[in-house]
Amino acid sequence: MNPRFEFTLHATDGKARTGVIRMRRGEIRTPAFMPVGTAATVKAMKPESVRAAGADIILGNTYHLMLRPGGERVARLGGLHKFMNWGRPILTDSGGYQVMSLSDLRKITEEGVTFASHLDGSRHLLTPERSMEIQRLLGSDIVMCFDECPKIDQGRDQIARSMEMSMRWARRSRDGFDSGGEHAENAALFGIQQGALDEGLRKASADALHDIGFDGYAIGGLAVGEGQEAMFATLDFAPGQLPADRPRYLMGVGKPDDLVGAVERGVDMFDCVLPTRSGRNGQAFTWSGPLNMRNARHAEDTSPIDERCACPTCHTYSRAYVHHLIRSGEILGAMLLTEHNVSFYQQLMQAMRDVIAESRFQAFARDFRRDYLRK
Ligand SMILES: [Zn+2]
Repeated sequence: MNPRFEFTLHATDGKARTGVIRMRRGEIRTPAFMPVGTAATVKAMKPESVRAAGADIILGNTYHLMLRPGGERVARLGGLHKFMNWGRPILTDSGGYQVMSLSDLRKITEEGVTFASHLDGSRHLLTPERSMEIQRLLGSDIVMCFDECPKIDQGRDQIARSMEMSMRWARRSRDGFDSGGEHAENAALFGIQQGALDEGLRKASADALHDIGFDGYAIGGLAVGEGQEAMFATLDFAPGQLPADRPRYLMGVGKPDDLVGAVERGVDMFDCVLPTRSGRNGQAFTWSGPLNMRNARHAEDTSPIDERCACPTCHTYSRAYVHHLIRSGEILGAMLLTEHNVSFYQQLMQAMRDVIAESRFQAFARDFRRDYLRK
């Protein structure tokens, strides 16, 4: 039988790392990109296509699922894996970030966050304990601690107070998770480092999490408007503050060049809505940079979106056809482009895993940036 959670590093190249996480529902090759399945679906893709694209794990959003269809209902239906037909690992976020960004009338206290649903205005209280319970009801494989993600432009004192509360919530999350019986014996729990762009606060947060002890450690509170330069400056020190023998997960990132720069700085896992959301908005990611498929220059172009891409869309359909579908608002346009983008992201991760194993990451990163950013 597979282990509950086992992380093995196969190779490092500079700070970049490649390895594998073994869990009961399957292996996760790292560096890993997790497509986002917000509401029990990776939008516009069947789960079998997500797997065929190369994804080992997807992400589900606790905030969305607790409001609709509800954690208890998903549990009655046999859990999220069965409900959505995805048998491999699922990571669920804690709901904390989306409560802050999507809900109305938030009130944050030491106990948790009271909020009104963005769907129907109904009132809810989300606490570390309730977040652990919902993630257990969903049957999550990797559970995230409940935390507060402060706005990046707040003062240091406010960010410090927020981080300290998140560390108390991390302790409560640990206790809540551990009381989960059989689920706790099969799933993993990740802590989340906070502290915005401040090296000292990041260090204090990392130490507090390490004292509690987690299976993996996320870097939270980035990709919230600080810009790539500030994010990379923080990633120059933040991953190294976390235990080297555990996976490091940068939450909510990002663009392909963000991923390359973060892997270069020692990050192992990512999630982002960008490949799926862009697929619905007419943007394609390619090795030569992003393309706007609405642009008239694609109207009679019979070449694929990306000559180097191995996805079914690029194998079968022309830029001209995808352009026509997107311009016409056809659902198939979103489907084909999403499949390409999700597949492109997985091919990028596979390429990084390969070059790290072969100690050629620096040359790869240089060539990638030359081609991807040349516009
Ligand atoms: Zn493609």
